[in-house]
Amino acid sequence: MAHIIDGKAIARKLRAEITAGVAHLGTLGIRPGLAVVLVGDNPASRVYVGMKEKACRDVGIFSDEHTLPAETGENELLALINRLNNDERIHGILVQLPLPKHIVESRVLEAIAPHKDVDGFHPYNVGRLVTGKPVFRPCTPYGIMVMLQETGIDLTGKEVVVVGRSNIVGKPVALMCLQQHATVTVCHTRTIDLPKKITMADVLIAAVGRPEVIRGEWIKPGAVVIDVGVNRVGEKKLVGDVEFEAAVKRASHISPVPGGVGPMTITMLLQNTLQAAKLSVGEL
Ligand code: NAP
Repeated sequence: MAHIIDGKAIARKLRAEITAGVAHLGTLGIRPGLAVVLVGDNPASRVYVGMKEKACRDVGIFSDEHTLPAETGENELLALINRLNNDERIHGILVQLPLPKHIVESRVLEAIAPHKDVDGFHPYNVGRLVTGKPVFRPCTPYGIMVMLQETGIDLTGKEVVVVGRSNIVGKPVALMCLQQHATVTVCHTRTIDLPKKITMADVLIAAVGRPEVIRGEWIKPGAVVIDVGVNRVGEKKLVGDVEFEAAVKRASHISPVPGGVGPMTITMLLQNTLQAAKLSVGEL
């Protein structure tokens, strides 16, 4: 049976370190501040924003929430971002996605000052990641890398297969693995013979968003499996992208859903906000 990677425990340890880092900045008269902007009333987004606020409070980060009505115009949103860019209390700005259809997401993300872009979605930060000199890394892939590192998994020379090529998970995690000297294959809906690609993986990272689409029998015995997918089945049950019950019998390590990657994502947002505050006073 695989070792279950306990994302909650790793996140708890990191949050204790972040709390200490925030307290240290406090001695210099700096309190890290995160502005979270929510447009509209998407219930899932509300839940995420609430979780982010609570996480900030728990580690001592100042949380500044802006909830705007769904009909807010793009210019109004850009004006708010401009104000936050110039607000000295704010070190990180996060715009909760998705935005309502009438707002062009890229214009909004590009309006965030790169040194406050704690989600790591601004083209400046994407470019830094591509060139191997990251400043702010997107939170979910960053959390995956920390999880692997904390579990003692060295990617050097490993065959990593990433399923999914989104800008928020698949692509950035592939780049981060490349940076860690893995040989990386990125799969998607047009990939031919996905099972064969997966069979080759020493490390499989699944970021698909389809319940248990990756069958346990495709997993190479002894592989490391990181399941990013969060899929609701029925009323209450959450499952990942990997068929857990079968995969756990073949893998050497596997991250569960829930309790794997999920707790790491918000933790890395806190980490990025702390980093932004440190950078603002030349502490890094
Ligand atoms: P996304 O933007 O929908 O991207 C999904 C990717 O999977 C796409 O690249 C798509 O390929 C690929 N794909 C879909 N079906 C496939 C199939 N049958 N075979 C091969 N590839 C397939 O999703 P995302 O934002 O990256 O999120 C992925 C999952 O991770 C979701 O379940 C999401 O909820 C979860 N997630 C979790 C966290 C967390 O903190 N735990 C954070 C972010 C996301 P194409 O590009 O060809 O369409």
